[in-house]
Amino acid sequence: MRRIKEYCGIFGIFNADNAAQHIYYGLHALQHRGQESAGIVTSTYDERKKRRVMPYHKDQGLVLDVFNDPRIFETKLLGRAGIGHNRYSTSGAADNRANIQPFVVHYRDGNLALGHNGNLSNARELRNSFSQRGTLFLTTSDSELILHLIAQSARRKQIDQILDALTQVEGAFSLVILTDDSLIAVRDPNGFRPLALGRLGDADRPGGPAYCVASETCAFDMIGAEYVRDIEPGEVLVINQKGCETGRFESYHLARHHGVSQCVFEYVYFSRPDSKIFGEMVDKVRRKIGKQLAHDAPVPKAPMHEKQPIVIAVPDSSNTATLGYVTECRKLGYRCRYEIGLIRNHYVGRTFISPGQNRREQKVRSKFNTVEGVLKDRIVVMVDDSIVRGTTAKFLVNMVREAGAKEVHFRVASPPVISPCFYGMDFPSAKELFANQFDDLEAMQKWLGVDSLAYLSEEGLMRAVRSANDGPHGYCNACFTAKYPVPVEMGVTKEENEW
Ligand code: SF4
Repeated sequence: MRRIKEYCGIFGIFNADNAAQHIYYGLHALQHRGQESAGIVTSTYDERKKRRVMPYHKDQGLVLDVFNDPRIFETKLLGRAGIGHNRYSTSGAADNRANIQPFVVHYRDGNLALGHNGNLSNARELRNSFSQRGTLFLTTSDSELILHLIAQSARRKQIDQILDALTQVEGAFSLVILTDDSLIAVRDPNGFRPLALGRLGDADRPGGPAYCVASETCAFDMIGAEYVRDIEPGEVLVINQKGCETGRFESYHLARHHGVSQCVFEYVYFSRPDSKIFGEMVDKVRRKIGKQLAHDAPVPKAPMHEKQPIVIAVPDSSNTATLGYVTECRKLGYRCRYEIGLIRNHYVGRTFISPGQNRREQKVRSKFNTVEGVLKDRIVVMVDDSIVRGTTAKFLVNMVREAGAKEVHFRVASPPVISPCFYGMDFPSAKELFANQFDDLEAMQKWLGVDSLAYLSEEGLMRAVRSANDGPHGYCNACFTAKYPVPVEMGVTKEENEW
């Protein structure tokens, strides 16, 4: 499944030599969470200005492209603390450079920078109220609202201003906030998006180790940091020099009105399998999901005179679930074998589409190719993590058929996606979703051009996730059920919500 884009990946570090370089590597590991733009801001003392400053560098493009000049790190992004952000933006806002995060402002209590992963569900309401008071906006992003709320808070202490602001926003927000003396990590009370705390360096180092926070722990592995724990849903963790030296940090908790609802789609598709999110390895949960799919929708029984069916993953996001699926199908007595029948090109970027070409088909063809020797004359079971619009799935099925597959069966390692996400994922509208365009499975099958189509059940998905991660918290699965854990303004498009 490749039609959904995640909004963002965030990373922050405090008390580290060359903080910006660590952030750069962290963002590189989180590149899958956003490819439109990247940015880093650090906090340092400017001898000439005799005050603390927050230099930043941000631009559209991938991390490697935005930070391709080493002088940025040597002369500009100085300091021992900083935050970084990878962004994927919706179509309406993609070209607005002002929306590239982190946002940096200077207000009465000093410098402030912010990186946000998520979507505020009361953004419109807040924006209207600010507009009526004459507030001028520099961006079309909901994240800017948080900075206005902090700057306009009547509280005296900075941490109280931040807490005051956070009690007024609703929806999904994992944040890294950089002040002149702290790095503050925040997870909304529902805990929609993941955020973890890591440590870099020895505890007995003078000044203490460095501490970092990241959307996913694969960013810690990249810089050699160790995972400490998750930022708890509703937690506001203040990382400062005193905390690094003592290992004890101030932690505040935002009031919870709706229960915890961590995004189950992070496990299904978004997060990397080598990451730990919501307290459990994605690899482990995804394998369980694949195993459950084997119970809900096993491979077809092939006659004994036929070669055993081969099971192929739609790479890369379905690889792990497919491994679990094949293992369990075999355990259940079904003849089948795991094969690599689709190859993904990782270096596609933005491909030029010549006039007259089917744009989407060309995109799929430049991203995937088939291995004919594997697929020819075989019963093929394709496993994908989800179907959103269905167009990519249809093209892939066609390619597998063209490679000579005798039968093509499609298995989906999640339930039908029936409702958009309002908590930080970019889904198409409800009417554009594949599952909403057909009356039954048979019609879907026919349109995709497959011999059979079967989904993981909602119960199966939740059973798999809970059996792999027996944590204390609940999950959001609203895109499969339309049961939204935090009220949303239905019918409001992302563009409208952005401004
Ligand atoms: S609606 Fe779906 S994608 Fe959005 S937070 Fe809930 S589970 Fe995740």
